[in-house]
Amino acid sequence: SKRIKILDVPVDMVNNQQAMEIFKGLMERPGCDLIVTPNSEIIMNATRDPELKMLIEEAGLIIPDGIGLVYASKIIGQPLNERVTGVDFLNSILEYLEQNGKSVYLLGSKPANEERASVAELAGENMRIKHPRLKIAGTHDGYFKKQEEADLVKEINASGAEFLCTALGAPKQEKFIYEHRNELINIRAGIGVGGSLDVWAG
Ligand code: UDP
Repeated sequence: SKRIKILDVPVDMVNNQQAMEIFKGLMERPGCDLIVTPNSEIIMNATRDPELKMLIEEAGLIIPDGIGLVYASKIIGQPLNERVTGVDFLNSILEYLEQNGKSVYLLGSKPANEERASVAELAGENMRIKHPRLKIAGTHDGYFKKQEEADLVKEINASGAEFLCTALGAPKQEKFIYEHRNELINIRAGIGVGGSLDVWAG
C-alpha cells in the first residue's frame, strides 16, 4: 500500500480490506504498534504538535478518517478511492480478535456510578453480544492521573491482552499508547477509538 502526505503528515491509501491485511501483520509481530485514524482536525493539529506528528509518522497503520481527507487527497492528485470508517474498521478488528482467540483491553471513558457500570465494562458486554467468543481481558475508565499510569500499564500487561483500545479523546489516547509502547509488553497493537466505547455502551 501507498503512504501519501497531506500537509506533510503521512496517511496510508488503503481500503478496509488492505487496512485489515496490514493490521494482521502488526498483530503477528512482537512490539506495540500504534494505529491512528486521523481526521482533518488531527492533521491540522499535527502541523503544530511535534509529538503528534511524530507518533503519526511512526504509526504502523494510518487510516485517514473523514470525508475532508478524501477531498484533500483528490486536490493533491493522489486520490483515496474509498473511505475506511472507524466504526467498520473497529468491527473488523473485533471479528479478527474473536476468530483468532486474541483478547482486547478497553481503556477509557467514564467510570461506574450508582446507576451503572463503567462505560468500558458496558461496551465490553455489548461487544460480546455481537462477538460472543471475543475475550475482554480487562477494562479501566479514562479518568486517571499521570502518577497512576505505571500501575495501569502493569494491569494491562497482567491481563494478557494483545490488543488495546483507548478512548481518552484525541490525541491523548494516541499519546498514551505511544508513550507507553515499550512498556506494554504483550500488546501487539493499539488504537484510539474516541467516543466509540460510549457508542458501544449504548
Ligand atoms: N475521556 C476520558 N478521559 C479524559 C477525557 C475523555 O476517558 O480525560 C473519554 C470520554 O469520556 C469519551 C472519550 O474519551 O468517552 C472521547 O472524548 P471526547 O468526545 O472529548 O473526545 P474527542 O471527540 O475530542 O476525540
